[in-house]
Amino acid sequence: MPIFDTLRSMMIAVVLIFVSSLDAAEYALIADNLIDGRSNQSLKNKAVLIKDHKISAVVNVNDIPKKITKINLAGTTLMPGMINAHEHPLLYKNDYQNGHLQASSAYKALIGLSTLQGLLEAGWTTIRVMGDGDVYYANQDIRKVIDNDIFLGPRLTGAGHYISITGGGGDINFMSPEQPVIADGLIADGPDEIRKAIRQEIKYGSDWIKIMVTGAFMSVGDNPKNVAFSPEELSAAIEEASRHNIPVAAHAHATEGVNQAIIAGARSIEHGSYLDERSIDLMVDHGTFYVPTIYVGDYYANSGKLLAQSKNDDFYLSFRDDWLKMIGKAYRAGVKIAVGSDLCGYAVEPHVCAREFATLIEAGLTPMDAIKAGTIVGAELLQWDDKVGSIEAGKLADIIAVKGDPLADISKLERPVFVMKNGKIIINKLDNYSALTP
Ligand SMILES: [Zn+2]
Repeated sequence: MPIFDTLRSMMIAVVLIFVSSLDAAEYALIADNLIDGRSNQSLKNKAVLIKDHKISAVVNVNDIPKKITKINLAGTTLMPGMINAHEHPLLYKNDYQNGHLQASSAYKALIGLSTLQGLLEAGWTTIRVMGDGDVYYANQDIRKVIDNDIFLGPRLTGAGHYISITGGGGDINFMSPEQPVIADGLIADGPDEIRKAIRQEIKYGSDWIKIMVTGAFMSVGDNPKNVAFSPEELSAAIEEASRHNIPVAAHAHATEGVNQAIIAGARSIEHGSYLDERSIDLMVDHGTFYVPTIYVGDYYANSGKLLAQSKNDDFYLSFRDDWLKMIGKAYRAGVKIAVGSDLCGYAVEPHVCAREFATLIEAGLTPMDAIKAGTIVGAELLQWDDKVGSIEAGKLADIIAVKGDPLADISKLERPVFVMKNGKIIINKLDNYSALTP
């Protein structure tokens, strides 16, 4: 209707004028320490200059140009905005496979936007969506309204759905055969259906393909120790995605599934709970990224918060120690490890996502390398390291500040006091400012 269209255009114009007017300023951010995402130590007496959405320079405090607006963040450490390489923003209940059946795509889009804004306030400026519980493509729509400056939110990339076999981790396996429910995942069997599923994902805006190579922990009626897709299906998936220049993320727990996915050419292995020595060698040889998503298991173990929780507890607690040792081995062998939380949907407070850093340190990463796993290595995984992931001249100004020294206390990453995305201040708790909840 013309009247509605006119009103809508006016509203969008007002929002755009408001957003752009806040972006025009030039800033110098001054904190006690700077972790730039590249150096192995934090740097002192540095200021980060911001102009036109970008970092224009990193200078000594004495060299800050006179006329520039100074933002004093004394008592804090500046670092790159955090990158979460594994998230499902639309999940709004712990019981995600039932919740999926009870809400429209529109409802999930609104819930997902709220979730993502919470994550942005918690310092996650970039998020890779690893498929989600929605029949349509709500995350791709959320991405559009963020990219077009209609709403604030993190940078998004990722897959609309997880592609699963019939009866696999992305299927609904607890209904009677008479109930024709649409699964949370995209179900595809055989190379032809997989190719079609991938083409559909790309058509509607996915810039990653997510495949459920093995069963999952948190779905009902499948087994994470089983390999779901055959080698033919797996190579068809990667060959199809590669022809469109789209990377594949492989959800894989079972050893054989991990190894087959690496050999087939997946860009990242998600979880990898039963990886072995060969998996580590293969990841090094193929340059595969590894996103272990450890803390989600700790969060749910014995909590009784999840429908399929008893399955998760039995498996998870039996292998956690061995798994962390293998993650440490993978790290020392040179595997590129990235941070993914796999946890922070609407039902979970956003700050807990950053507990993944502590589990990586427990597995053997140094605090600085854990921070790099959630910044520059995540950016390399996304092939966005030319624009985000470090504090360097020319990069987009995605920057956070945390109180004190996160290298001494990694839990500081849970509650940043300052968040900037694309040169725009999202929150500044030292100044009681929030662009999201004014
Ligand atoms: Zn996941």
